[in-house]
Amino acid sequence: MQDTFGRTIDYLRVSVTEACNFRCIYCAPNGHTDPAASPLSVDEIERVVRAAVALGVTKIRLTGGEPLVRRDIVDIVRAVAAIDGVQDLALTTNGFLLARLARELADAGLRRVNISLDTLRRERFAKITGVDAFDAVWTGIRAAAKAELAPLKINVVALRGVNDDEFADFARLTAEQPWHVRFIELMPVGTSAAASDFFSRYFISASDIRARLPELDAATVHGNGPARTYRLPGAPGTIGFITPASEHFCNACNRIRVTARGALCACLFGERGTDVRGALCEGVSESALQDLLARAIDDKPERHPFGDDFAIDAGAMSEIGG
Ligand code: SAM
Ligand code: SF4
Repeated sequence: MQDTFGRTIDYLRVSVTEACNFRCIYCAPNGHTDPAASPLSVDEIERVVRAAVALGVTKIRLTGGEPLVRRDIVDIVRAVAAIDGVQDLALTTNGFLLARLARELADAGLRRVNISLDTLRRERFAKITGVDAFDAVWTGIRAAAKAELAPLKINVVALRGVNDDEFADFARLTAEQPWHVRFIELMPVGTSAAASDFFSRYFISASDIRARLPELDAATVHGNGPARTYRLPGAPGTIGFITPASEHFCNACNRIRVTARGALCACLFGERGTDVRGALCEGVSESALQDLLARAIDDKPERHPFGDDFAIDAGAMSEIGG
């Protein structure tokens, strides 16, 4: 389906939980949200995905919070993978529980994973995430590679003065492994003075990240999706940049989102959307559900207001799913 600005919407991101076992300094430093907020059930997720697929969505990503803390995550993957028309099923995870689950998830129909990893150093990892879990995540990455959840992408949120001395180490990883390292610009979460101080202190732009990677001068360039991608000579993996701040990619945005609590959002930075869960509870028909989604797509804004002094509201990353 096309939105009013001519963009084809073929990608749905589903936040399956607001809960998380990490407390990343840039996302949820005080832990995660309201324990009373129960997420969509497997059946509800399946119904929403079915309706989206009927409107032309072919790619699904499960995210959160941390999707692997859901005990029924394998059931969710199995249910979504079985829907006719789902061509690509991916999941974004912090990797902590991946060693145990990678094989089961792959067997249930998961195609690929994005794993968040902001540092290759153990102590630093604990400082960023609040949990001493570098080894567990690294084992999880290995398990995902072994289970052929590919292409395997590693998301690195770039943080000035925290991990900016490791960008070259991450780039080097792509020369050793067929992994796709993507540097993500920090997004402002929360509107308080403290949140804006955090952003000013730690934000580093993609061009500054690039400046720390002289190797890229010899790399080939590919453009696909929101990431601009480079490959070092002879490297099996790639290096990409995701630049919500310095260069918004709204004109190529092909996605809608459903939050863990069942609200449909057409934009990560937009209003907290249509209440799909309410409709599901009231026994909405398949075609009325499709209409709800179609309306959300119609209302998709042309671009996010980021850059005009706007911040995503606190809690949104885990609720909407980053
Ligand atoms: N818990 C999973 C994880 O960390 O991969 C999935 C959810 S997390 C919200 C999804 C992605 O959003 C992660 O790659 C994370 O690094 C990124 N993220 C969270 N807060 C961010 C922020 N303030 N700016 C940029 N990226 C952020
Ligand atoms: Fe949890 Fe992911 Fe947010 Fe870190 S970025 S606190 S792992 S949801």
